[in-house]
Amino acid sequence: MGSINALRGTKDILPAEVGYWQQLETIAYQTFARAAYQEIRTPIFEQTELFARGIGEATDVVGKEMYTFTDRGDRSITLRPEFTAGVVRAFIQHSLGSQGSVQRLWYAGPVFRYERPQAGRQRQFHQIGAELIGNGSPAADVEVIAIATDILQQLGLKSLKLDINSVGNQEDRSNYREALINYLTPYKAELDSDSQDRLTRNPLRILDSKNENTQTIVQNAPQLLDYLSETSRIHFEQVQGMLNALEIPFTINPRLVRGLDYYTHTAFEIQSDDLGAQATVCGGGRYDTLVEQLGGKPTPAVGWAMGVERLILLLEKLQTRSPETPAVYVVSRGDQATSQAMVLTQKLRSQNIAVEFDLTGANFKKQFKRADNSGAQVCLVIGDAEAEATTLNVKWLATQAQTTVTQAEFLNTIETFRAQLQDHLGQG
Ligand code: ATP
Ligand code: MG
Repeated sequence: MGSINALRGTKDILPAEVGYWQQLETIAYQTFARAAYQEIRTPIFEQTELFARGIGEATDVVGKEMYTFTDRGDRSITLRPEFTAGVVRAFIQHSLGSQGSVQRLWYAGPVFRYERPQAGRQRQFHQIGAELIGNGSPAADVEVIAIATDILQQLGLKSLKLDINSVGNQEDRSNYREALINYLTPYKAELDSDSQDRLTRNPLRILDSKNENTQTIVQNAPQLLDYLSETSRIHFEQVQGMLNALEIPFTINPRLVRGLDYYTHTAFEIQSDDLGAQATVCGGGRYDTLVEQLGGKPTPAVGWAMGVERLILLLEKLQTRSPETPAVYVVSRGDQATSQAMVLTQKLRSQNIAVEFDLTGANFKKQFKRADNSGAQVCLVIGDAEAEATTLNVKWLATQAQTTVTQAEFLNTIETFRAQLQDHLGQG
């Protein structure tokens, strides 16, 4: 029978790669904790209407990319294509904002979009993100941006570029929308077919079209920034001022509009030059109308999402992660020896020392070779003779220095052993 492979656009995360994931997750958790953000976990599937209403029918995500199916109870269900709509639903459903308090939330997990798979673009991918719900000040925008840049910096990712823009409030946007349609309509026949489609449905998206001809036409289009009301302009200036105060470099990109309908005021993206066409690692912005749109009280909010797979691609290029190796490799041969070695191994592990146990029972030469390859610092050896005498042989792999001690004494002086392991780390 033929073998079965993972679906197109999905990927197994194998042990060789998973260390990067754990490094990223650990840094993200710690950074969120330091900024008083709490984790929220929402279901992987929701009613289709949540995304249709929340993200907007005219967006690519809802229009073309959703994994939607009818369940056995005839309900239309969709695998989440992003987190924000679900998080906001939970915020409303559980009255998380009832005390008028600010909710600082973060999340991590898989999301699903039916897209053409390529480097940095999958059908099941992962996002880590943050949402600050219940505050409309420019400081909130800057706080979430600062957390994102903090995480990326701790990962050692340099050569990242932050683009920001303001898409104004809803009134600014609708004024601008009209001006943009007026400008683009005479060029309609020259636009790419996607953009022609968007001209009435979602004209702002035409601004970030990748089509060269469309880009040339868009060059001279009216700019959103010229359509901002006084309050929107001041909000945007304050965001810039605080980013400057934090020494977070940014570029104003007047054509940055982001794909989803719900953005207001600040929109931003963080990109890397090392990722080819799929350059955006983080996207976000303010979404002051979404809570109301989903049936809650008017509540301002701002957030972002990072694409984990794209960050992993960058981390793999850097290769900063130290490989995960056991500190200790345990070698044994013979039934009695193996049993004693197993007891010893468990005791070391319970003392928080990382131990790899050789299960093969192969000859010592083969086991020692594996010990060398494991990257462990020290090899503990119990053969028939040691088992008989309840001793063990301690062999430091870098220097080949060896001692034989009784197993009882070894366990009694485990702190000394631990200190020797630390010394070894220092030398490496
Ligand atoms: P893109 O323009 O690349 O399609 P997007 O605007 O659709 O991105 P968002 O909805 O803002 O992306 O999602 C946040 C982040 O998730 C993106 O910046 C990107 O890093 C990542 N991402 C989006 N779609 C995919 C995908 N299909 N595969 C892997 N990562 C993705
Ligand atoms: Mg997309």
